[in-house]
This record gives sequence, structure tokens and C-alpha cells, in this order.
Amino acid sequence: MTAKKVVTRFAPSPTGNLHIGGARTALFAWAFARQNGGQLILRLEDTDLARSSPESTKSVIRDLLWLGLEWDQGPAPTTDPGVDPYARDIQIGDKGPYFQSQRHEDGIYDVLIQKLLDSGQAYEDEDAVRFRMDKDIAFDDVVYGRIEIKADDLEDFIIRKGEKGGRLPTFHFAVTVDDALMEVTHVIRGQEHLTNTPKHAALCDAMGFDRPQWVHLPSIMNADGSKMSKRDKAKAARKAANDADLQPADDNMAAFNAKDNDDTDIANAIAEALGLSLPEIEVADFKRSGYLQHVLLNYIALLGWNPGDGTERFDLDFLIKHFGYDRIGKSNSQFDRTKLAKFNAEALAEMPADKFHELLLAHCKAYHLDFLDKIGEANFQTFAGMYQARSQTLNTPTEMGRFFVCDDDAIEYNAKAVKKNLTKSDGEGLNVLKQFRDELNGCDDWTGDTLHALIESFTEKHQLKNMGSIAQPLRVALTGNAVSPEIGPTLELLGKQTVLNRIDRCLKTITTDSD
Ligand code: GLU
Repeated sequence: MTAKKVVTRFAPSPTGNLHIGGARTALFAWAFARQNGGQLILRLEDTDLARSSPESTKSVIRDLLWLGLEWDQGPAPTTDPGVDPYARDIQIGDKGPYFQSQRHEDGIYDVLIQKLLDSGQAYEDEDAVRFRMDKDIAFDDVVYGRIEIKADDLEDFIIRKGEKGGRLPTFHFAVTVDDALMEVTHVIRGQEHLTNTPKHAALCDAMGFDRPQWVHLPSIMNADGSKMSKRDKAKAARKAANDADLQPADDNMAAFNAKDNDDTDIANAIAEALGLSLPEIEVADFKRSGYLQHVLLNYIALLGWNPGDGTERFDLDFLIKHFGYDRIGKSNSQFDRTKLAKFNAEALAEMPADKFHELLLAHCKAYHLDFLDKIGEANFQTFAGMYQARSQTLNTPTEMGRFFVCDDDAIEYNAKAVKKNLTKSDGEGLNVLKQFRDELNGCDDWTGDTLHALIESFTEKHQLKNMGSIAQPLRVALTGNAVSPEIGPTLELLGKQTVLNRIDRCLKTITTDSD
């Protein structure tokens, strides 16, 4: 007997963006298929018409492609906004269509439901069609082992919804049929589906399908032991809105505040209005926060699995080579944000400067156009170079370098930095700043090197202790703080006018009396 070709699938319900737990499921299904020269199917389980949306389908496709997890069968792997992912003629694979709504249209489920009705294994009642769960059920889960359930503990369940539900198949029915018809050998999914599996096993048996191997993955938890879910974002946003006494903009937001919904879009809007960052939960959140896809995949591979030899940093080739279900644990795994950030910082610091520049530029084009406008593409390499070594994510330069783009009037002076670098010793720092302003005003070659040399010669001419005697007062005037990257490039990127404006404002605002 020849072994069946490995076929795995990722079967998200398109009811929102791709969650990090979904990404891990997809990653393991992908790695297992690749390891075995098999196939990965992407199937959209959109039979819940009220909750499914084309936007969600598009975002799942976009996020999987961003991660680099390509499928062999499923919707066309494209993010082209002009392409309709539901279009049947561009789906790939010969077991389609890969949308359950389309499979329903084609009558695939109804034919099989009729057979179950004819054989008496299903019956109709006022809700719809129900499947008879009248036998003991046992199945083997690759991770959780043998699971046995007595018929007495099982209840008949709906396999087709009634008129109100559009006579669509329920999740249990559609998933079982599709896995069988698509010849899926390994069903890899979250542990929350373990309790559904007796139903799926019974349906397989009733329809004469081979059972697939079920591989349930442990849940991913927050540091506080709660399950990591998109509700976490809503919770954080709701609390912030409450603390800031933010008035609801519309009924939807009022419902959100009253905990009647956990709408991610509202959570994001609140976060933007209040300038706060919410915990990353969805793949798109991690992308926006500036995590690298290969780091994210590396990190999530360790949630529930490990290669067994202590290796923690690896690439996808390593994962394909070493992945195995035998090393997936049953216990829940904790999402350690500090560890992920550390992996990311290491990856950013290690990469060639050109690569960092390229990634930062692309990230700012997508999310921080204000930096591009202010710094300009030609100077972006300088900006990237200033922050590469200290970046945890691609957002770090925009967070640490916020002063580059803010209004000159928006600089807030840190009292301690002011005292130490400007007003102390009868305003020594202020005096230096005043004198150096004239030097800067007369400078015609506004480049980092020239400006650095200017500071150097000024230090010597005035017999100052060191370059910090000018650089520190300058930093306070330009950024409000005594920390900024190298002063030469900082001056260069800010531009002459901004530098002079900020020095003038500082000299006007800060006097020795403000001590
Ligand atoms: N559509 C299901 C979900 O998104 C997944 C079902 C499965 O993987 O079997 O939870």
C-alpha cells in the first residue's frame, strides 16, 4: 500500500483579520506539507454569511502572502485590489471551489445531506436537519492522544441550518465534507476545535469517508494567563477611552463602550485618537508595529513546538527540516512579547545597513509618510543608519525620532535635561547655544560632516570641555531631551531652518530664571 500524499489545509472563517493563532496553524500546516512534498490548501469557511466578508478574505490572503506562506490550492494568491478572490476561474487546484459558500451553491453539501436523510442517519425537525449521534465515538488526536466519548454524552446536532440560516450547512458538516473531498490527510487546527472533533469523526464514519489525522495545537495565552484574543485589543481600547473620558462618536462606539461588541476597527480608531498602541494580536498588528515576517514566524513556531536541541533562532528551511508533531506539547503556550521583541531587535541589528534602510523606507512609506515628507527619500539612509543598532522594531526610529517630524513649537523641554545642560552654572549651556547659533546661521554647507567639524572647532576655539558642551544644549533645544542620535546627522536631517527656529524658541522660552 502506498502512503497517501500529504495534504494539509488552513481553513479560516473570514470573519476578521488573521489572528496570530491562525498564523501559527497556517505555518505548521505549511511546514508539514513542505516537509513531506505534499500540498497546502487554503479554504475559506464562509458559511456564516452574517459574519463573513470579502474584506476579511482579502486580508487573510494579504497577511498569509506577507508571511510568505503560499498555498498550492485555493483562491488566487494575489493582493491586487482589482482581482476578485472569489472569482472561480482564477482559483488554483482541481478540488475547488475553495469557498464554502460556492460549494454550497454547487449543491455539494445538499447531496450528502440527502443521503444521510435517506439512510436515517439524519432527520429533519423544526430547526433544520439534525445528525443522529447515537454511537460511542473514539478518535486519536496526534497531540492529545485517544479521546473516547460515550453515546449517552453526545447529542444530535444540526448539520443544515433552517430557512433563517439560508439552509446552509453548519461548520461541522462543511468542514468534514470538504476535508474528505479535498483529500486532506492532516487536519491541523487550534485546540478549541478538539471538542468538535467527535462530531466530525462520527460524520466521517456515517458518510464512509476515511478519517484524517487530527492534530490540535495548544492555545496561545497572554502573560496573565488569559487566552490571547482580539478581545484584548477591545479591552485595552475601552479602558483607555474610559480613562480619557472619550465621548462615543456614534452608536457603534457607544455599544463598544458598553461592551456590547469588541469591534477591532473601533478599538483601532480609539487607539489612533488617543495616540496609544494596543497589544498586537493580529498579523497586521505585528506588521504595522514593524516586526519582520521571518522573525514572527520563527517566534510563533516556538509556541507549542520546539526542535528539541535548544535552538531558538531559525529560518523556515530549518523549520521544514526539523518540524514534527511529536514535539508539539499539550500545555498552553505563553506569548512572550519581550522575547519576540528581542528576536526582532537582533535580526534588525544583524542585517546589512542597506537592507535595514530598504525595510525602514518601505515601512515608513506604508505607515509613516510624515517621516518621508520631512526627511526625504535621499536622506533616508542617514536616518536609518542612526537607529539601526537600537531598533526593536521598524517603528523604533519613528518613536525615538518623533522630534524629526513634530512642529517646532511642539518640543517639550524635559526639566531635568534643561537644568543639567542649559541653566546650570548661570546658564552656561544657554550661552554656548546662543553663540553657536551664529556659527550655524553662517554655515553654508549643511551636511553632517561639516556640522560635526563646526562643533569640533567651536569646542577648541572656546576651550570647552568637550563636544558634549555644545551637543547637549543643542539636543535639548532640538528634541527637548538630552538624548538623540549623533548630533551631526541630526542637525543635517532637521535642516537649517528647523534648527535655527528651535534654538530661537528655546532661547526665548528658557531663561536662567526657569531654573
Ligand atoms: N473555520 C474554522 C475556524 O476558523 C477552522 C476549522 C478547522 O480548521 O477545522 O475556526
